[in-house]
Amino acid sequence: MRLLIQSVLRSAANAKRGIHTTSAYTKEAFSPSTYTPVAALSSDNIGARLSRTILHTVPEEEAKLRIELAAAYRLFDHFSWNDDVVNHLTVSITEPDGSKSFLINPYGLRYDEITASSLLKIDAKGNVLNPGVVGDIFTANKAGFVIHSAIHATPNTKAHAVLHCHEPTITGIASTKDGFISSLSQTSSIIGPVAYHDFEGIVVDEKEQATIVKNLGDKEVLLLRNHGVITTGQTIGGAWYRMNLLLKAAEIQKTTQSIATAGGGIYMPKQEAADKAHQVAKTFSGHTLGVMEFSAYMRMLDKMDPSYRL
Ligand SMILES: [Zn+2]
Repeated sequence: MRLLIQSVLRSAANAKRGIHTTSAYTKEAFSPSTYTPVAALSSDNIGARLSRTILHTVPEEEAKLRIELAAAYRLFDHFSWNDDVVNHLTVSITEPDGSKSFLINPYGLRYDEITASSLLKIDAKGNVLNPGVVGDIFTANKAGFVIHSAIHATPNTKAHAVLHCHEPTITGIASTKDGFISSLSQTSSIIGPVAYHDFEGIVVDEKEQATIVKNLGDKEVLLLRNHGVITTGQTIGGAWYRMNLLLKAAEIQKTTQSIATAGGGIYMPKQEAADKAHQVAKTFSGHTLGVMEFSAYMRMLDKMDPSYRL
């Protein structure tokens, strides 16, 4: 009787505070420790899947690309270049029959959750070829893949890796009439000239693909005006390092322009100096641009949380 009275008093107190309880649930049907609005998306359910690996079932080259791309997602998260669960980092795979497939994030996972085995393998139209460990719950965001598939499908392209983000500073610079000043600093000079693409709304229309490819041309960086940025590379490390440099250069430009606006003016270097920086940086480390740097940051991830390798 005493317990019943306590229960009634607790319910009355909760009702007063606006907390509604029901006696209809059982412990089996409802667990306060794992509840999410969608049961399949609980920590338990997703976590169990992400602890599995499929790397022993795929060719070695694909396994390596999966690990590198998962590392890129984790690094985007680490540096806060991601935008919730949207946007994509993709890499192309040449299949034994010569056809192209692509690795992409499952739409719904956070970047810090991505593992090598959680990446989806898709064809050029976004159809899933290998669902990985979470493909029964999440699928590819075909609309978001429109930009990537356009670049990947370009004949003889060297853009095997295509990375996209909406980081505020570079998006702000992409939305100014002056745009990105490639020769402003040593950092920006290493990147060199960039390309531009005008905003046409959220990119879901395949007709826009031709314009994206035309505008990118032979450049490795495409500023999407009023939207964001794309970096490309022959390797994931190259595209990642290009993004790293670009976002740092964007900060330098923002700082320089704000000081100049206050009356300092901008001192521009000679164009020859910028061109020299661009050329020298290509082979400065003894590796293809970005490979050494990307390996260094994979070691950082290994110290922090090596689960991306699963
Ligand atoms: Zn975007």
